Amino acid sequence: MKKYDPLEDGISSVELIRVSGSDLDIANAARVSYGKISYELSEKDKKLVSFLMMHDHTSPFEHNQLSFRIKCPMFVARQWMRHRMHSYNEISYRYAQAPIEFYTPKKWRYQHQINHQASEGEFENIEVKRKYQESIDLAVKTYQEMLESGICRELARGVLPVCIYTQFIFTTNLHALTHFLKLRLSEGAQWEIRQFAQAILEMATEYFPASLQAWAEKNSINITKSVD
Ligand SMILES: Cc1cc2nc3c(=O)[nH]c(=O)nc-3n(C[C@H](O)[C@H](O)[C@H](O)COP(=O)(O)OP(=O)(O)OC[C@H]3O[C@@H](n4cnc5c(N)ncnc54)[C@H](O)[C@@H]3O)c2cc1C
Repeated sequence: MKKYDPLEDGISSVELIRVSGSDLDIANAARVSYGKISYELSEKDKKLVSFLMMHDHTSPFEHNQLSFRIKCPMFVARQWMRHRMHSYNEISYRYAQAPIEFYTPKKWRYQHQINHQASEGEFENIEVKRKYQESIDLAVKTYQEMLESGICRELARGVLPVCIYTQFIFTTNLHALTHFLKLRLSEGAQWEIRQFAQAILEMATEYFPASLQAWAEKNSINITKSVD
């Protein structure tokens, strides 16, 4: 199965590790209302799937499962896990020593002038970038010194910045996933999590093309367009 590097830094990743179900299962979940079943996805089934999506008949989209292995900065994971209708298991820096992998933005952005939670433009200042890296280096050095002195991992990790990478398994169904995608692909969401949402949308569409094309059309979303 495919693996993407959404932040294009050679560290971030989204890997689709398991899929069960298909557009046909979604059509059949709806057809059971009439005691009917299809064995091959017909044009009629695709139209039915599209109708269900367009009219918010959501329950037929819950009889499937997609599991992804995600590697993202800790602050992206914090936003991600606010979504409660999914299952998660994450690496623990109580059990494992934290990796020396941190996210450094390729492009720094200014604080948005009007929208308090947003960013805009491109900030060019080599001195600030150098200080960002220096503070990571100092945090890593302190972390390692604390571990060497015998301090436990669960407390020493407190010195690490939120741009540190974390890993987790994210399992969902198409109903819950489309809700997540709608919120995290929107312009109001942070650029970094939007890159992950876009990668997930592209990967999931390979397995549920009728459903996700209908969803994208409904929400005026371009499935393959990269998000700015
Ligand atoms: C751009 C953006 C900015 C944000 N900023 C902040 C912020 O500043 N601070 C902050 O704390 N959060 C923030 N959030 C998180 C946001 O408030 C939601 O917690 C998050 O988007 C998850 O949405 P959700 O509850 O709809 O999704 P899920 O948790 O996946 O839930 C899906 C749906 O299930 C139902 N549901 C789930 N749990 C309950 C419940 N307990 N009661 C009733 N219905 C439930 C709701 O219909 C919900 O829409 C932000 C989110 C976005 C997208």
